[in-house]
Amino acid sequence: MTIDVAAIAANYRRLCGMHPAARVGVVVKADAYGLGAAQIAPVLAAAGARDFFVAHLAEALAVKPFLPADVTIFVLNGLAPGGEAICAAEKNIIPVLNTPEQARDWYALTVDQSRVLPAALQVDTGMSRLGLDEEEFDEVLGWPAFTQKIPIRLLMSHMACADVPGARANTDQIARLERFCARLPSVPRSLANSAAAMFLPDAAGDVLRPGLVLYGVDPGTTGVPHMRPAVSLEARVIQVRDIPAGAGVGYGFDYIAKFPLRTATVSAGYADGWPRSLSSRGGVWFYGNRLPILGRVSMDSCVVDVTALLKGSIGPGDRVELIGPNQSVSDLAMLIGTTPHEILTGLGRRFSKVYANRPSMGGEEMQS
Ligand SMILES: *Cc1c(COP(=O)(O)O)cnc(C)c1O
Repeated sequence: MTIDVAAIAANYRRLCGMHPAARVGVVVKADAYGLGAAQIAPVLAAAGARDFFVAHLAEALAVKPFLPADVTIFVLNGLAPGGEAICAAEKNIIPVLNTPEQARDWYALTVDQSRVLPAALQVDTGMSRLGLDEEEFDEVLGWPAFTQKIPIRLLMSHMACADVPGARANTDQIARLERFCARLPSVPRSLANSAAAMFLPDAAGDVLRPGLVLYGVDPGTTGVPHMRPAVSLEARVIQVRDIPAGAGVGYGFDYIAKFPLRTATVSAGYADGWPRSLSSRGGVWFYGNRLPILGRVSMDSCVVDVTALLKGSIGPGDRVELIGPNQSVSDLAMLIGTTPHEILTGLGRRFSKVYANRPSMGGEEMQS
């Protein structure tokens, strides 16, 4: 897996150019979508990002040593009861308060420690996932000196349909957020994920929260201005063989050769995040040729048809493209009916990663 960090920095700067009046935050949860938060987060900080979003406290603690002291790390899912709040407060990590219980625990800590402890406040504007409803919001804001004890750094919500720019839900959610904002008029608001950052200027707010586009994947399917792809993925051929008509290929013999074929076994399987649902559907690329996957993807390998290539032109040790100029993360997602987010976050664990075009190292590569 090769990760072009210069492309990620360029994508960040491009979003800043599209939203000159806002702060462009960055979502680096799930280990920066599988790409390696320890390597990616400092690149984004160097490009100017100051607001970092992760899902869990553990992710915040893991990425913090790689970031300068003047950035803010927000924990989107908030803090779990039983010690996380004390730890976050100690490390100046900012929770998102999503529920009255999370707000109560943080508020209680400000009282216990007689400290002012900032937080972000999430409200539900229609997605029914996380955030206070209007009644809970009023209740929490009514606690004695709530906003003095807890300076609200962001009033945030999340959009359900930002990748469908014309959806009625978008204008509804923006309008509902307005109603909450009326109670906290001077608090910066944050609503936009990647799709909203690209397609919905009305949802930009004060602090954007893109993830996917930073990593070079265009959200949605419309004619989007293209982000610079940042991820490419190759795997090696382990074996090439000729099989006779009637031979079965892979588990369950889901594919039976109708003619004599030449096949290549590729060293990537579902334990690498190369989805099993690509069985009999997906393909890999080799010098402009698409090599279809035959039968089921196994845990560590899959078999592709190389009959169309000249004999001897592919052999053990050659690399085939899984993701690259011929096949994007979005192409794969579309093919198997999932989101590019799921493809990306699945890939991070077993492939070795090469970080290319690191500005501070004069373009040298670094391996992890
Ligand atoms: C994951 C997430 C984002 C980023 O979404 P992308 O589609 O990757 O841009 C933004 N906000 C919240 C609350 C999220 O959970």
